[in-house]
Amino acid sequence: MKVTVFGIGYVGLVQAAVLAEVGHDVMCIDVDEKKVENLKKGIIPIYEPGLTPLVTKNYEEGRLHFSTDARSGVEHGQMQFIAVGTPPDEDGSADLKYVTAVARTIAQYMTDHKVVIDKSTVPVGTADKVRTVMLETLKQRDLDVPFDVVSNPEFLKEGAAVADCMRPERIVIGTDSEAVVDLLRELYEPFNRNHDRMIMMDIRSAELTKYAANCMLATKISFMNEISNLAERLGADVEKVRQGIGSDSRIGYHFIYPGCGYGGSCFPKDVQALIRTAEHIGYAPRLLQAVEDVNESQKYKLPEFVVRQYGENLEGKTFALWGLSFKPNTDDMRAASSRVLLEELWRRGAKVQAFDPEAMNEAQRIYGHRDELMLMGTKEAALHNADALIICTEWQSFKAPDFVEIKNALRDPVIFDGRNLYDPERLEKRGFTYYAIGRGASI
Ligand code: NAD
Repeated sequence: MKVTVFGIGYVGLVQAAVLAEVGHDVMCIDVDEKKVENLKKGIIPIYEPGLTPLVTKNYEEGRLHFSTDARSGVEHGQMQFIAVGTPPDEDGSADLKYVTAVARTIAQYMTDHKVVIDKSTVPVGTADKVRTVMLETLKQRDLDVPFDVVSNPEFLKEGAAVADCMRPERIVIGTDSEAVVDLLRELYEPFNRNHDRMIMMDIRSAELTKYAANCMLATKISFMNEISNLAERLGADVEKVRQGIGSDSRIGYHFIYPGCGYGGSCFPKDVQALIRTAEHIGYAPRLLQAVEDVNESQKYKLPEFVVRQYGENLEGKTFALWGLSFKPNTDDMRAASSRVLLEELWRRGAKVQAFDPEAMNEAQRIYGHRDELMLMGTKEAALHNADALIICTEWQSFKAPDFVEIKNALRDPVIFDGRNLYDPERLEKRGFTYYAIGRGASI
């Protein structure tokens, strides 16, 4: 099938590459000329495991095209995906200007039936807005061309995006048209062979499903962080509590790791956007508000530990930082806990020697102008002559380090661990002062 994807970000590029891989003919359109030029040269703008070979292969074999020419994009596919960003606007609501801009573009150039598939995360009612914008644009052109608007939210996880799109757990489709259901079944058939993963529903329910999923996951994290704060004060170990509750099959082990707060481009903005949606309809979303509040304060946990150890004035101190990305296997630093930590350390006069396996270019882009940040080539180099080590991201390569080397390299044998990677007793035996999240008994 011929498919067009507007927006070549994490969602659009991965979805496009995966659709091309199974044989669809996919044209990707983006307004970012540099991104498009780079992609044509095989330079992939983001780090995602498995993405580079997939994009290169399908581009070379002619099933994946990149362009800034919106008109040719509209002409190309009957299926028109919208996968542009929906960042928070001033009050935290989802800003739909990129989504409506694409809708307008499609209506401006279409001459035959199009299925407009919204993959961006958008508030309930957006499909109606897209439809209205398109009808207005068609009216200006004095044309009556049929089209359908579908909600097809994306559930991929950054860091495992290719695998998630190749083998999705579910494909949610919100539509009121049987004909569209048939077209989407055909489009997704290669991903739907083992068992039926397609869940059909009305458009509003599909739009809400995406927010509900992200808010549920964020709730699990904030819940565990709340328990970790209690554990710290009560002299309990949240890691033991985690295992104790995870063993209950109604709770399960997934997504109940305490830490220094969730970040990334989705959870913070989607929780906030659903809060605003609720407020706009006169409902006070008390639980969602608490999820956000707990997370915001959790991001200050590591700086709080540092102050507990060294006092408010950190002039003359240098900290080694392992992990800048908001989670492992991505270079994404949007709303990462590391950013709050860096700002808080700098505010108190400290310097930071940081290492991340993938996010160094991103850190350079964001903080290249800050003299207080030294980006180091290896995790070992980051330790050299630093006062203490701070861990923000649970990359695999941080999980079993050489503790003798760490102790020799640091001025003080102190580790502030925002991801609970190590055993507190073992570290204590090795002579470390070890701060972790919610492990009260050991601090
Ligand atoms: P992104 O910022 O990485 O990419 C968006 C792309 O859209 C950019 O390349 C931008 O240049 C392009 N764009 C903007 N306006 C355009 C236009 N008029 N025409 C063509 N291209 C245009 O965003 P993302 O992380 O891929 O997220 C996209 C959407 O998917 C968001 O709504 C997000 O909430 C949702 N989502 C993201 C993830 C994730 O893990 N990143 C997962 C699920 C859903």
